[in-house]
Amino acid sequence: MSFEFQIESTSNRARAGRLITAHGEIETPVFMPVGTLASVKGVPQDTLEELGVQILLGNTYHLYLRPGVETVRKLGGLHGFMSWPRAILTDSGGFQVFSLNALRKVTEEGVTFRSHLDGGSHFLSPESAMAAQIGLGADIIMAFDECTEFPADRARAQASMEMTLRWSERSKKYFEEHKQEVPWSSCQLSALSHQQTQVPRFARNDKQEAARNDRNDQKEEGHATQALFGIVQGGMDLDLRKESALRTIEIGFPGYAIGGLSVGEPRNLTREVVEATLQHLPADKPRYLMGVGTPEEIVEYARLGVDMMDCVLPTRAARHGLLFTSEGRVSIKQARYAQDQGPLDPNCGCRVCRRYSRAYLRHLYASNEVLAQVLNTIHNLSFYLDTMRRVRHSIRLGEESRFF
Ligand SMILES: [Zn+2]
Repeated sequence: MSFEFQIESTSNRARAGRLITAHGEIETPVFMPVGTLASVKGVPQDTLEELGVQILLGNTYHLYLRPGVETVRKLGGLHGFMSWPRAILTDSGGFQVFSLNALRKVTEEGVTFRSHLDGGSHFLSPESAMAAQIGLGADIIMAFDECTEFPADRARAQASMEMTLRWSERSKKYFEEHKQEVPWSSCQLSALSHQQTQVPRFARNDKQEAARNDRNDQKEEGHATQALFGIVQGGMDLDLRKESALRTIEIGFPGYAIGGLSVGEPRNLTREVVEATLQHLPADKPRYLMGVGTPEEIVEYARLGVDMMDCVLPTRAARHGLLFTSEGRVSIKQARYAQDQGPLDPNCGCRVCRRYSRAYLRHLYASNEVLAQVLNTIHNLSFYLDTMRRVRHSIRLGEESRFF
């Protein structure tokens, strides 16, 4: 097996554990930064390693359009292409196609859509979304789903959920038949050994190294494959969410995601749906909440028992000068920081807070310097990753309730 999940500590509903993938181990609960186009905008891979990023997210829709799956596959998959030796997760493209709205047409077979780049017509189905994700070669890939719009009445949410269930079955069937085609499987060994000499290893202890060697042996036997996660839909209807969860579990996946949230619904409704859905997911499998949230929200969801989260907020907000700190939000563009010699966040140990003043960061932002985006993104990611590190520590100490 090239994918495992172990729960090592629990504290009330929160869990701390470990995901084991073909590209390293991931401590959970984990926050996954978004690298839409095989890049976390403005931050080089060595800096992401230094920040302790354990797993990155890539967007299949964007990579499928540019540079194209075949190009990435030939260059060793995403790991080789972007020189990232740690784990990667890709979405199925379903959510991005959903957000194109007027440019898409959904049928039983799949989704026809127009590219946001050049207006060209494309078609994504469960089968082609799996083929794309196998070619990109992330460690964790997602079933092709239909993200139900908000608001949707019950009949619409149910029909959409049924479609997602049928697409989940088709996704799994295609994946099972083609999973050996991943760029780092046994048939691509020569490319893999080339990649390993190019890509720096990150620090590991002996036990992890032994585990990695075992997995490399498995690769040579052709056993290393990706893990395909199922996605629970059902709109904002708690009964449909339960039904979607139970029937997705029946299809059977090594992990389960909660999709279809952060689509415009009020935040208290998001929380209600998450809490209700989690009750129906198996305790021994990883639970991935897609596309949330603020620092306060990711802490809250970890407390409820979510193991994996991703969100564009820290990186997107950083590019707009909105910074998350231990003392609250800082809008660095404000004139009040023009003479402020203090660090951005006195309680943050990141390379930005250790070196630069608020006055300098404000100047970079006001002058539209590229460095503003770089430094702001590094700090915001550091803040999110540190937050999750502290959450994991609290769960392991059994003090989760004190932390929250
Ligand atoms: Zn910082």
